[in-house]
Amino acid sequence: MILIQNDSFLTGLQCHKKIWLSQKGSKSSFSKDHIYHLEACEDIEHKEMIEHAKTYLSDRYDSLEIAHTIKYSNLEGLIDLCQIHDDGSYSLVIVKTSLRPRRHHIRLMGFWHAILTAKKIRVRDMISINLKGNYTLVGELNLDELLHLTPIDKDVFKSASSIQDVISTLSHVLELETCPNIDIGFHCDSPHECSYFKQCSSSVPCPSVFDIFGLPKKTKYSLYRRGYARYEDALKKITPDTVQSKQAEAELQGKAIINKPQISDYLAHFKFPLYFIDFEAVQFSIPKYQDTKPFQQVPFQYSMHYFNYDGDELRHCDFLAKSNEDPRRPFAEALVKNLGKKGTILAFNSHFETQTIAAMAELFPDLAEKLMNLQKRFIDLATPFNNMDYYVKDMRGKRSIKALFHAVTDDMPYTELPIMNGEAASKVYGLLSTIKNDDEKIQIKADLLRYCHMDTIAMVRLWQNLVLAILN
Ligand code: SF4
Repeated sequence: MILIQNDSFLTGLQCHKKIWLSQKGSKSSFSKDHIYHLEACEDIEHKEMIEHAKTYLSDRYDSLEIAHTIKYSNLEGLIDLCQIHDDGSYSLVIVKTSLRPRRHHIRLMGFWHAILTAKKIRVRDMISINLKGNYTLVGELNLDELLHLTPIDKDVFKSASSIQDVISTLSHVLELETCPNIDIGFHCDSPHECSYFKQCSSSVPCPSVFDIFGLPKKTKYSLYRRGYARYEDALKKITPDTVQSKQAEAELQGKAIINKPQISDYLAHFKFPLYFIDFEAVQFSIPKYQDTKPFQQVPFQYSMHYFNYDGDELRHCDFLAKSNEDPRRPFAEALVKNLGKKGTILAFNSHFETQTIAAMAELFPDLAEKLMNLQKRFIDLATPFNNMDYYVKDMRGKRSIKALFHAVTDDMPYTELPIMNGEAASKVYGLLSTIKNDDEKIQIKADLLRYCHMDTIAMVRLWQNLVLAILN
C-alpha cells in the first residue's frame, strides 16, 4: 500500500499521471539544480515561518505543536502547527510564505481535516497564517506587522466532499499497473511547473503551437487540445500580430530575419568602452535586511564582460557579496568602481538592472549621482530580438537569453552548469549563510560565479552576432 502524504496529495491534485510517475515511474530529469537540493531552501524558510507563526499565535493557543503527524489507513498528514485540546479535538494551522491562502493550501488543510474526520476526531478551528506584503523590516522583526491570520473553516468545508473523492481516486491511481494516459494541458503549470513536462510533451511536433511568439499559454493549450498542435495549423486559427507574422515568415519559409538598417541604427548608439552586465538578486519571504519587504529583490552578484576599445581583448570582472551581510552597499560600491564614467552598458531586458540601480540610489544618497549616471548609459540588448529585427528559426519563438544563446552559438550549453537559471542562483545564495562546511561554500560560490559569467558571455555572443549580421 503506497502512502499518500502532504506532497503526494498535492502532486495528485495537480495530475494523476504525475503522482503515478513520482511514486511508481522513473525519476524526472528536471534539472541539475537538484544537486543543490533547492527544496531544502524552501524547507528552511517554511520552518522559520512556522516558528514565527507559533510565537505570533501564542496569545490565541497555549500549546501549539510543530509538525504533528496524523495517520489513517494509507493517508499520512504532516500538520504545520496544531493544538490538541483536553477533549481530544484539534485546532489546525497551515503556515505559508504566500500573501494569502491559495486554493491548494485550502485543499491541503482539507486533507488533514479528512484524516481527522476518518479517525472520528473533531476539528475545532482551521486557520491560515500568511505574510503581509507591505511590511518593511525596521529594527527587530515585528510579527504582528509581518503576519496575518485568515480563518479558512468555511472554505475547507465547501471542498470537504471533493477531498474525499480525490483521496479515493488517488488511492486507486496508485494501484494501477500502468501509467494513466493524460495529455499535457494547462494543469502542467499550475500550481507548479511539472518536472515531467519534457517527457510528456515528447510527441509534440516541432515547431508547434507552443513556439508562437507572445501567445498566452491558455490559448496555446486550448489550440493544442483542439488538434492544432502543428505550428502552421495553429497560426491559421489566430490573427497574428506584427511580430507573430514576422516569425511566421521565418518559420514557414525557413529563412532568418535580419533587418540590417534597424540593427545598424541600434548598434550606432553603442560607445566604447562597452560593458555587458548581468545582476542576480535574492528574495527572502521573511525580510533579512533593514528596509526590505517580503520577496523584495536584493542584488547580491554581478558579472561584467567588457571591451575598453574597439578591437580590445574581452575582459571580465565580477562581484559576489558575502553571505552574512546586507549585500546592497558593497554591490553598489563595486558597480560604481568598475563601470567607469563613460561607455555603453548593455543588459538583457535591462529594466531589472536599471530599477535596481534606481533603488540603490534612493537607499544611498552619497552614491546617488554616480549610480544615476550609470543608469543613463544602459541600452537593452534584448531590443533587436524583441522587435524581430533578428530572428533565426532555432529561437523557436523564445526570447530568453538562454534560448537565444543556444540558437546562435555552439558554445557550452547552460544545461552543463550546476546552476542553470536565476531562480536557482537566488535560492542557492539564500542557502549559503546556513552552510557550515567551508569546501561546500567555496564550491557554491564558484558555481554562482560560473553561472553569472555565462550570462554575460551569452550577451557578448549575441552582440557579436548582431555585428556580423550587418557586415555579411
Ligand atoms: S507534464 Fe502534465 S501531463 Fe505530464 S505528468 Fe506533469 S502535469 Fe501530468
